[in-house]
Amino acid sequence: MSKIKIHHDVDVMVITVDNPPINAGSTEVRQGLLDAISTLEMDHQLTAAVIIGAGTTFIAGSDIKEFSQPLADPHLPVVIAAIENCSKPVVCALHGAALGGGFELALGCDARIALEGTVLGLPEVTLGIIPGAGGTQRLPRLIGVEKSIELICAGARIKSDLALKLGIVSQVVKTDLLANALVLARSMIGTKNRIRDIATPPSLPESISSASQKAMKAGKNRPQVQKAIEMICNSLVLPIDEALSIERGVFQDLRTSSEARALRHHFFAERKLFKTLGASGTQAQTLKQIAVIGAGTMGSGIAMACLNAAYEVVLLDQNETALSNGVKRVEQFYESRLQGGKLNQVQVSELLQRFTYSSSWESIASADLIIEAVFEDIEVKHEVFAKIDTHAKDGALLASNTSYLDIDAIAENTKNPSRVFGLHFFSPAQVMKLIEIVRCRKTSALAMATGLSFAKRLGKMPIISANSFGFIGNRIYAAYRRQCEFMLEEGAYPEQIDKALEDYGFAMGPFTVADLSGLDIAWGMRKSQAASRNPMHRYVSIPDSLCLAGRLGRKTGAGYYLYPEGSKDKLIDPKVHELIDAASREKGIARRSFTADEIVKRVILTMINEVAQLLSENVAAEPSDCDIALVNGYGFPRWQGGPTFIASEMDQGQLDRDLQELAAVSGPGFVVANTDVLFERSKG
Ligand code: NAD
Repeated sequence: MSKIKIHHDVDVMVITVDNPPINAGSTEVRQGLLDAISTLEMDHQLTAAVIIGAGTTFIAGSDIKEFSQPLADPHLPVVIAAIENCSKPVVCALHGAALGGGFELALGCDARIALEGTVLGLPEVTLGIIPGAGGTQRLPRLIGVEKSIELICAGARIKSDLALKLGIVSQVVKTDLLANALVLARSMIGTKNRIRDIATPPSLPESISSASQKAMKAGKNRPQVQKAIEMICNSLVLPIDEALSIERGVFQDLRTSSEARALRHHFFAERKLFKTLGASGTQAQTLKQIAVIGAGTMGSGIAMACLNAAYEVVLLDQNETALSNGVKRVEQFYESRLQGGKLNQVQVSELLQRFTYSSSWESIASADLIIEAVFEDIEVKHEVFAKIDTHAKDGALLASNTSYLDIDAIAENTKNPSRVFGLHFFSPAQVMKLIEIVRCRKTSALAMATGLSFAKRLGKMPIISANSFGFIGNRIYAAYRRQCEFMLEEGAYPEQIDKALEDYGFAMGPFTVADLSGLDIAWGMRKSQAASRNPMHRYVSIPDSLCLAGRLGRKTGAGYYLYPEGSKDKLIDPKVHELIDAASREKGIARRSFTADEIVKRVILTMINEVAQLLSENVAAEPSDCDIALVNGYGFPRWQGGPTFIASEMDQGQLDRDLQELAAVSGPGFVVANTDVLFERSKG
């Protein structure tokens, strides 16, 4: 079946792109378009053409799978050149989405008309590349350099009304897109209106420089952002054909870069997330009301996440003060959204109407899903689940937000363990994308399907984990932090490790994170595990010493760093260096210097090793889920891909040798994982 359908509306050729589900611009689509334009030119009966998408959308992007291989002919610039060189006008009729190559194709046409609500944009930078079919040359000719920098460097998607205002489309219609496009095409018979013939409107160097700086900052100084700016600026000074050829060369170079491969890896990993939702065959339960137990940091954040997703929410806390503080956090959040213009008064009132709170357990009786977010203490959890059991309706599903505790143990103490599972949110819960859905021994398929569909409605990225200490994310993070502590003991200092990892792209180094979240949390956990810890394993006592000295992090003014009152900055503290030096001396370790590369290498290898363990133990089922977890919950740089991506780019033999070396420097307790599982699955 051809991906391009042609019919003639008397003298106008209608070219329909029919490549479901998103009419992606593939080789076949490009070839079909090229053939159609050649027919248009040759057929004397035809006066003009309209290009339109079949189904729900125009071309919503390119076939990203093709980016990983040498691109097959004809390339998109050739198709666009044919349209521009055709003596007859070609109108693009847009609906749904016109993104990436789809939008570039539209910019190559003589006019653009859109159905109301159409989304347009050039999201290439989010995939580590730049628009490679003239987007950086034609868009600035229409909307100027600064606006193009703003839109292209953010990979922004704009709606048709803004596109009309900016002059990107000449008409927006509410209905009858094709009929209106035909009228437009007929009005242009005998003319051409190529964007390439317009000069880019002049701009002041200061305003270009300010737009560029803003874009580079927001784009984390990534090379594709810098290149996009360079290309857009070329539109002011270079003849278009020269600039187009430079743009294409840069696009091709970036397309095969490791960064672009990493970003494509994430694109596909995210697409896989909801596959299980459809594949399980189990229909999710409809949820209307959510009860959240515990109005602390997490409970109030989870309540907001649910309110944002249009659920009715009841927040419960046994402690009146904690409840009123939690309610205040929710109300203040919406007040600030109102002040910031993100929501209007009607929306805020509607949201808060769906929000109730109580200290009485009767209030959860009609909830369809009950999420527990009380203190991280197994006895308290048992007590709370007993209360939930008494007051919840039989059909309600029950979830725990515990970070580390055994949810099977919690479930076993309830009337019906099949309705119990984990919903591990990250802080702040109304913001962070990641959520771990924890499948326990007896969790029903219905509970899992409902958990996934609930996460989807919340706009989260759900990864499924077995019930195991730390689940997926915290387990990898713990191994990572331990490795960084080893390096402290061997000769590095916190600021050096933090800097190396921040330069690699982590949002924050591990010691800055520890100071921010408070050293006492991990301390409490270490104390609770002290009895079961193998005394032969390497144990770094530096964090304990800091806690014993009252240095619990930012909140106490000191942790791995010093936080002088009234200052936002953190300072290096010589006392911490002394404490670390003393710890090394005590163990007879001769301190040595570390390079940034060595620090990063040890961290990445540690993460790869832990991921391989998680896969071998079937805690994680999908290798790429681990990368999603780190990027969306732990500040791992997306453009580096994540441990499974990095491993998949390595030679397995070399990786195994590296892990052996890592084990040797890490000392007793470090178990080298079998990497087969990683390679078989991520390449399979
Ligand atoms: P928190 O101390 O801020 O809040 C806990 C709340 O539970 C308090 O308001 C307390 O009054 C309430 N509570 C305690 N016992 C109760 C009972 N019997 N009945 C009703 N309410 C009760 O704690 P938090 O940081 O919000 O953490 C809550 C849970 O979420 C923990 O299991 C924690 O491990 C997990 N978690 C925390 C984070 C985080 O970053 N803080 C992240 C993910 C998961």
